[in-house]
Amino acid sequence: MSLLSVRDLRVEFATSGGVVKAVDGASFEVAAGETVALLGESGSGKSVTAQAVMGIVPRPAGRVVGGSVTYDGRDLLEPGTAKGLRGREIAMVFQDPLSSLNPVFRVGSQIGEMFRRHRGASRREARAAALDLMKRVGIPAASKRLDDYPHQFSGGMRQRVMIAMALALSPRLLIADEPTTALDVTVQAQIMDLLARLQSEEGMSLVLITHDLGVVADVADRVVLMYAGRVVETGPIREVYEHSAHPYTTGLMNSVPTLDGPRERLTPIQGAPPDLLALPTGCSFRPRCRYADALCAEQEPALRDLTGRATHSSACHHAEGVLTNAR
Ligand code: ADP
Ligand code: MG
Repeated sequence: MSLLSVRDLRVEFATSGGVVKAVDGASFEVAAGETVALLGESGSGKSVTAQAVMGIVPRPAGRVVGGSVTYDGRDLLEPGTAKGLRGREIAMVFQDPLSSLNPVFRVGSQIGEMFRRHRGASRREARAAALDLMKRVGIPAASKRLDDYPHQFSGGMRQRVMIAMALALSPRLLIADEPTTALDVTVQAQIMDLLARLQSEEGMSLVLITHDLGVVADVADRVVLMYAGRVVETGPIREVYEHSAHPYTTGLMNSVPTLDGPRERLTPIQGAPPDLLALPTGCSFRPRCRYADALCAEQEPALRDLTGRATHSSACHHAEGVLTNAR
């Protein structure tokens, strides 16, 4: 049973250039206790997908126009439902902690506020709970740092503060949207390790949104690859890495030498990311794809199961050929 189920989700934005289909029929599942990486180049619809789950698609330009989002049997697209679960059941961490923290309040009181507002804690109780959380997320000298302001923390420590706030109410699902993109490489690894540790301690589900396979390869169970608002491949991360069945995935994988090794060779996928206002007919990836043929120009490929067990799926007409070549 899935904790989160996204089915055929469609989100549009009204822009001066026309209607942008930011998410165009995305489907994926997240099981309880599972870590899923939502991976794709910038602009592929990852953040908007998260916004739809959280019920925070920016209005009035943005609108969920189709599909369903179900969390623990509840319809998150129903007005008010996501709002009621936000923070308590589903929490989110963003790329830029400074924009989510209030600069004028001390960090300890911002974390403590979660307990005061949602749990009716006293000032003293909230402070103690905040201190506990700051220790759990590995902030050194936490008791001294309770009274510091956000700007006094390094980027990595600020992200730990955000993670502490996200965990305050023990959510069952944590969505982290590019949580390490703004950080340097060593700190990135530390934050990923922290998220992985907290995920296993809490037994929560974790959705890691990233454009960088390298940072999630070691911690994710499954990967969901997005391109132009659609899911193009999904499966267990090792299987997808070792036997990718979509040319886009193969391209992304080629930018990471090994799952565990250092990242040095960066071969970006040829061609430009898609213009969502001028998508080609058929397969959106077609202009960048060496497998593209007449069928790809005619028919948009559906996500289809390759295993008979619904574990590894690809939305490529030539998935079998890609698989063979990748071996
Ligand atoms: P990413 O995969 O990088 O997180 P996003 O989900 O943020 O991509 O955005 C996908 C696409 O949706 C963008 O390329 C953009 O065209 C469109 N989009 C996202 N947010 C907005 C917005 N607030 N207004 C208009 N268009 C948007
Ligand atoms: Mg994003």
